[in-house]
Amino acid sequence: MVKDSSEYMNDESVASGHSVEVNNLRVTYVSGSNTVTPFSDISFSVEKGEFICIIGPSGAGKSTLLFSIAGLVDPSAGQVRIGGQVVDGPGGDRAVVFQDDAVFPWFTVERNVGYGPEVARWPKARRQQAIEEALSLVGLSDYRSFLPGQLSGGMRKRVDVARAFAAGPQNVLMDEPFGGLDAQTKESLQEAILEIWRTTGKTIIFVTHDLEEAAFLADRVIVLKKGGGLEIVPIDLPRPRTSSMRTEPALQGYRRLLGEMIRKAEDRKNVQ
Ligand code: ADP
Ligand code: MG
Repeated sequence: MVKDSSEYMNDESVASGHSVEVNNLRVTYVSGSNTVTPFSDISFSVEKGEFICIIGPSGAGKSTLLFSIAGLVDPSAGQVRIGGQVVDGPGGDRAVVFQDDAVFPWFTVERNVGYGPEVARWPKARRQQAIEEALSLVGLSDYRSFLPGQLSGGMRKRVDVARAFAAGPQNVLMDEPFGGLDAQTKESLQEAILEIWRTTGKTIIFVTHDLEEAAFLADRVIVLKKGGGLEIVPIDLPRPRTSSMRTEPALQGYRRLLGEMIRKAEDRKNVQ
């Protein structure tokens, strides 16, 4: 549905700067006679331009929550709103980056990055400009004609990131995107995504199980508890976040705090 701008201006959630709102969300998976409900009543809002990390024990529903925001999983109660509109499927205002490479091995870097705009049938000039900008964001302008198989794992991940940004979504949703990378590559990708976020002003929601990564990247960390509920930890560290901050007591203090919260989140499940 296309709304005109005056309708948007009247929308309370847009006027207040909220980009993503999760209201009383419940998701239930049904397979045969089994049902699984990772969470049954969670609510939070994300400001436009915020960097949010989601952490929590394995199975707490981090991916489920992210995919609900993406419109890939339907809620069984409650709703997700983006820019004031209820999410009922995937949309051009969102892009998702998964842990596994999503690149097509038989397409060049350039064609992979331009895939969204190609499917959306953007005119060639506009498509080319989007590709150039996205390649430049991730530092792959010189690799446009390479095939993914000719790139390192870190570079393939950069292609994934460029593809997510190419079609110009306001919200970029990432599910443990750097989980499969070695420590050094991971750190350089973290610094790259912060720089991309700073220059583009996008809203990023980033699932990770790496607590230092969460503390390094986020404005706020959402800790999902197993069996329901969440806590939100604002990360009061200056920006830009630099490599040297990783070992400083302030960041390590947040890492420890998040670790304790995850352990408590696990305990809760054990007594249920
Ligand atoms: P996390 O990402 O935090 O590890 P998930 O969101 O992947 O958690 O999963 C939450 C719970 O929902 C788990 O118990 C998982 O087994 C279950 N689950 C996830 N996806 C499905 C699905 N498609 N069908 C049935 N159960 C699922
Ligand atoms: Mg997951």
